[in-house]
Amino acid sequence: MALIVHKYGGTSMGSTERIRNVAKRVAKWARAGHQMVVVPSAMSGETNRLLGLAKELAPAKSNEATNRELDMLAATGEQASSALLAIALQAEGMASVSYAGWQVPIKTNSAYTKARIESIDDQRVRADLAQGKVVIVTGFQGIDEQGHITTLGRGGSDTSAVAVAAAMKADECLIYTDVDGVYTTDPRVVPEARRLHTVSFEEMLEMASMGSKVLQIRSVEFAGKYKVPLRVLSSFTPWDIDINEEAKSGTLITFEEDEKMEQAIVSGIAFNRDEAKISVVGVPDKPGIAYQILGAVADANIEVDMIIQNISKDGKTDFSFTVNRNDYARAMDLLKDKVVPALGAQEVLGDTKICKVSIVGIGMRSHVGIASKMFRSLSEEGINIQMISTSEIKTSVVIDEKYMELAVRALHKAFDLDQPAA
Ligand code: ADP
Ligand code: ASP
Ligand code: MG
Repeated sequence: MALIVHKYGGTSMGSTERIRNVAKRVAKWARAGHQMVVVPSAMSGETNRLLGLAKELAPAKSNEATNRELDMLAATGEQASSALLAIALQAEGMASVSYAGWQVPIKTNSAYTKARIESIDDQRVRADLAQGKVVIVTGFQGIDEQGHITTLGRGGSDTSAVAVAAAMKADECLIYTDVDGVYTTDPRVVPEARRLHTVSFEEMLEMASMGSKVLQIRSVEFAGKYKVPLRVLSSFTPWDIDINEEAKSGTLITFEEDEKMEQAIVSGIAFNRDEAKISVVGVPDKPGIAYQILGAVADANIEVDMIIQNISKDGKTDFSFTVNRNDYARAMDLLKDKVVPALGAQEVLGDTKICKVSIVGIGMRSHVGIASKMFRSLSEEGINIQMISTSEIKTSVVIDEKYMELAVRALHKAFDLDQPAA
């Protein structure tokens, strides 16, 4: 008997028919003798619908008080889907109980709309499991020290599931979604993308952080930190397929790098349109500049991704970086109102029509010339590179948003990702 965590995404929970299918699948696993904890997302479209209503009522700029209410609001989506799943399981003759994050409790910090899980008390869940119940725990949410409901950022149910699996030392965490695994790139953008049977934890971490939304990055971080066996698989197979076959399907996130004899040099391509570029132009080039600009941005709880500082000319330099588009307006205001006057900089320029495209692969560690091959492919398509950043196992470029799909397709082909692995 194993303790298994299943996570079902929004599309998988998208209608009563689909919820019934999830219930049948979970019941199959429970009847096979496993202790089951299930973490559902809100029904597809529900989180967007709720946040859309708020947007109709609230001014564009976010503040702490409004963010608190956004979490209060968005958390209801998962509360509804969790209760519906418990009802469906009971209708299947399976004892089941659902809990909202605060009831478990899943404790988080107080960063509304992007809270981080700090601890999970598993006592209540264990007591129910011991009584033979399937326990459903809402994805995406928790409660902070002061008792406020928080949410974990878009896609956060993945993180809830992996964190619950880690806290309970589950034997496996299965992420059921609307694709049958992790692909070389988003199969909705490149139809030739291939499913990977395994992907190393480090590659998955880079792919998630570079924008492959198949797993939220924090879920991969948790899996790495607590060595949670993690698999991504389809919720659209018939619910009654053989359980052993199902348990081996999809993509396994592996921790042993040398499992494959011959590593693919590039395993996947990720992209995102979530960022915006900001340039502070004509900054006096003296010690403390990066700190004055980025310190102010960090103090406003705005995360910065890529950073470039140009060489200086006549004692002045330009400083560019990217932030999430949701933070763009706030970052621009902050820079214009406070930082530019304090620094005596010339101006601040912003561009929201950018995207980031990244190639990821463990094999990049031991092969040279991969980045230059990337740059050559992009230049052959006439695509201008605005920023570059690299790590041991990835190279990312910022380009004009309108070339995103072209770039991803070209790179997918250039690195032979459409060909079956050797
Ligand atoms: P869920 O609602 O189940 O959490 P998401 O929409 O969050 O599902 O994530 C699944 C989606 O991720 C897929 O439908 C696919 O379009 C997208 N995706 C992006 N990159 C990849 C990739 N490399 N492999 C598989 N899917 C990807
Ligand atoms: N419902 C939340 C969202 O849409 C969390 C999730 O689906 O993982 O972002
Ligand atoms: Mg998701």
